[in-house]
Parts: sequence; C-alpha cells; structure tokens
Amino acid sequence: MATIFIPQERVAGERRVAATPSSIGKLQRTGIDVAVQSGAGAHARIADDDYLAAGAQVAEASAMADAAVVARVAPPSLDEVAALAPGTILLCFVAPHRNPEVVGALAERGVTTLAMELVPRISRAQSIDALSSQANISGYRAVIAAAYELDKYFPLFMTAAGTIKPATLVVLGAGVAGLQAVATGRRLGAVVKVSDIREAAKQEVASLGGTFIDVPSDEDLTGEGGYAKEAGEDFLSRQRRILTEHLSTAHAAITTAQIPGRPAPLLLTTEMVEAMPPGGVVIDLAAADGGNCELTETTGVVEHHGIRILPGHELASAMPAEASAMYGNNIAAFVELFVTEGAITLDLDDEVVAGALLTHDGEVAHTRTAELLRGEGR
Ligand code: NAD
Repeated sequence: MATIFIPQERVAGERRVAATPSSIGKLQRTGIDVAVQSGAGAHARIADDDYLAAGAQVAEASAMADAAVVARVAPPSLDEVAALAPGTILLCFVAPHRNPEVVGALAERGVTTLAMELVPRISRAQSIDALSSQANISGYRAVIAAAYELDKYFPLFMTAAGTIKPATLVVLGAGVAGLQAVATGRRLGAVVKVSDIREAAKQEVASLGGTFIDVPSDEDLTGEGGYAKEAGEDFLSRQRRILTEHLSTAHAAITTAQIPGRPAPLLLTTEMVEAMPPGGVVIDLAAADGGNCELTETTGVVEHHGIRILPGHELASAMPAEASAMYGNNIAAFVELFVTEGAITLDLDDEVVAGALLTHDGEVAHTRTAELLRGEGR
C-alpha cells in the first residue's frame, strides 16, 4: 500500500500544513496510507493527536524517504529535495520562475513534481485549484488588514455628531483575490474602484458593487486560460496616469495583479503612492513576485510620505487553520485523480496531470520553466 507523507513546513512565515484531519478522511478513501510529521499542524492548531484520531500515522521527518507521495505547501529546500526518494510524486507550490535551482534539483533527483500553481484552470480541476482557494483568503484578509491599519472608518456614518464619509478602496487586479477584496470592501461599506486588463473583469466587478476604472485599449489583454497577457509599456503608462487620478482621493489600495510565471507588473510607482492622501495604506499581494508597488519590501512595512506599504504575500498563512483546510482538500482531490484502492497510476495524458507536471523522469517537463533553466525566455 502506498503512503502519502505530510512534512512540517520549514519556510519562515509558512503556517499552513498540507493535510488536516478532515482531508485525511478523503485521502484514505483512495486507499492510501497517510503519515504526518510530528508537529506539522502546530501553527494551524492541529495536534499530533488530532491526526492520530483521524486515522493518520504520526512520524518523524525520516519517514519521508519511504513515501510514494509527498504533499507540502511551500517548495522544498535543496536539502529536503535530497531527502526524497527517486520516483516520489511531490505535490506543492513551487513558484518555478523564482526557484529554478530547486526545479533543477527535483528533476535531477528523479522526482515527479506536480506544481499546484500549474494546475489548469478548467472546471474539472476546480476542486484542485489551490491558487484560487488561497487567493480567496488573501483577498479577504487584505481588506481586513487595510481596515485595521487605516485610522478611518470604512463605512459611511451619519450620526448626530456629524457625517463620516466612507473610505475609498482601489483594487488593482480583479482575479480571485481582487474580486474577494471587492466583495469584502463593499461589505464593510467602502467605495471600491477597480482596475484590470481583462474585458471579463468589468462585469464581475460591477456585479459586486465595485466601479471599474476604464483604461482604453485597442487590445483585449485576456490570455490563455482566462489569465492576463503581459500588458505593453504603452498601456501600462496610460493606466498609471488614470490610476493616479483615482489614487489621489483613495485611502487604501490593494494590489493583486500577476502574470503567471513572470514578475508582477509594476502598477504603483513611487510618484503614484505620493499622490495618495497621507495616512493611506497599500497592501501588495504580489510582493513575492517583485510587487505591484515600486516601494514594496517582502520583509515588512515601508512608510513613505505618510503612506504605509505592507507586503501581502503571506496573508493566506495568517489564517492557517482555514487556509490548510482548503489546501488539504485541494491536495486530497488531486490524489483522488491518481490513486485508486491504494495503487498509484499517474496518467500523463490526463489534462490536469499534464498541465501540473513540472519535473518527471529526470527532466523538466514544463516547457516555459525548461526554457528558463536553459537561459532562454524570461
Ligand atoms: P492572477 O492572480 O494571475 O492575477 C490577478 C489579476 O490581475 C487578474 O485578473 C489579471 O487580469 C490582473 N492583471 C494582470 N495585469 C494587470 C494590470 N496591468 N493591471 C490590472 N490588472 C492586471 O489571476 P487569478 O486570480 O489567478 O485569475 C485569473 C483568471 O483565471 C480569471 O479570469 C479567473 O476568473 C480565472 N479563473 C478560472 C478558474 C476556473 O475556471 N476554474 C479558477 C480560478 C480563476
């Protein structure tokens, strides 16, 4: 019988875990045995005893070498790659464009890596879509963080002592995180304005009560699979000019714009931040990919001209119990695809497996990443 091993996350700031007692039931229904590293759930408030009660074994890190499948949240370190047995199937986020060395080591080690961020955004794979499950949390949490940081009410208040105007929130990027930010911002009573480059985003924003900031373009920048194409410099500079006007009356900005596998587009220059009224807050969810804001630092808060800029790349980890519950379900749904009655059959022709396949059989299977590793493309 094959075993799936869930290691303790080692990356600083990573508080999630790739399985929870509820996802263990789902994993076990595929017939696979589950082993969880002792202490793996501590940040998500899941004790070893909770895993034992759910039917998992609790093991030491060395048990990873005996597992046919390993599921984790963050990419492994080079040492952790060396601890995997050749032929292991690894499920995790890899951020291949930021971690080429790890990808190379995984290929060399003979690990079959299924990268969670490469899972195709198709209906059949919705239950496996960890980018969405985690972005939903980040979008929600970003608004809560902005509301907390701001020394101003979000909603309109009409009282005998006077009327307080609602806060204005600008959301850049209306994907999963951005739309959740719009919905949460509206629920808290803010005026929400949104910019995106995909045509479809206009209607989605309007249906949530947001106002779309139109940047005229001759081209629909919707790319493959509903993702955004990389906008040209001409569009970006027009967008910056129009956004500056809106930012000059905004109290908070949440930036979520990403282009898969590439550095995040620069949407908020220093000059644009300076246009915001003092006391404002920027939460940059794209911080790990270079940030949408020129001033963002992944290491902490930056204060510039009375505006605080916060990195938001770890916001899903700030709600570790719920983020792990959803991520664990994404992992279990993926395992269901290739484990039946405890036996593993990985169908490389399956669209979901083929899309997520990053390394296999000693090679880097994902074309764009392979090009990056060869020093071609960018
Ligand atoms: P993402 O995290 O890749 O990017 C966030 C948003 O930033 C996107 O809406 C993108 O258009 C936008 N963006 C990029 N460059 C920009 C710029 N210069 N200015 C403003 N905005 C910019 O996106 P995501 O949340 O992963 O969602 C991408 C798409 O995938 C959406 O269309 C979403 O509806 C779709 N999706 C489909 C499924 C499914 O079918 N199962 C699941 C999830 C998401």
